[in-house]
Amino acid sequence: MDKLRVTEVFFSLQGETKTVGLPTVFVRLTGCPLRCQYCDTAYAFQGGTLYAIDDIMQLIAQYKTPYVTVTGGEPLAQKPCLHLLQMLCDADYDVSLETSGAISVADVDARVVKVLDIKTPGSCEMHRNHWKNLDYLLPHDQVKFVICDQNDYDWSKKILHDYQLAERCHVLFSPSYEQLAAGQLADWILNDQLPVRLQIQLHKMLWGDVKGR
Ligand code: SF4
Repeated sequence: MDKLRVTEVFFSLQGETKTVGLPTVFVRLTGCPLRCQYCDTAYAFQGGTLYAIDDIMQLIAQYKTPYVTVTGGEPLAQKPCLHLLQMLCDADYDVSLETSGAISVADVDARVVKVLDIKTPGSCEMHRNHWKNLDYLLPHDQVKFVICDQNDYDWSKKILHDYQLAERCHVLFSPSYEQLAAGQLADWILNDQLPVRLQIQLHKMLWGDVKGR
């Protein structure tokens, strides 16, 4: 049986994406090959505990919600993640995957909602974008830009246009926590009439920058 290194499994409200506010089980897998300057989950870079996928399924089953988010770190850095995603879909969960966009999503089960980051210049990891991933976007997927400043906003606007992302899936623009005011980003979006969703991290409004929330 495949095993995965897990930092935490926890139950919270979805803080981001299209299911924001819904009770969700989060499976945070350990490890990430990136080092975004704004990363708020550096505690997931190492350590963790090895679990058989069946045991992870049992941990998830104790919570009464159909929503499961597999996150990290970078969950796809562990190959058996693909198997976990498939098993969750087979068990009829509503599954989303939060991924950095640096590793191929070609083999991710098509039933999974991919929440795919596009790393901006301000992340300091823009060179890690695996642009081929955009070929695998499905209409239910979501691409996310974490925007640090006006340069990031202008860059993201250009990518949005060049790849016609809004016509292909959902697009989230999120201000980098404590680096860009959400109101400023909202003004830019409205001024340019962009077809994107402003996303504010609900869990941080509720609980601040707390682990396991
Ligand atoms: S991809 Fe995510 S987990 Fe990895 S360094 Fe960037 S923000 Fe942190």
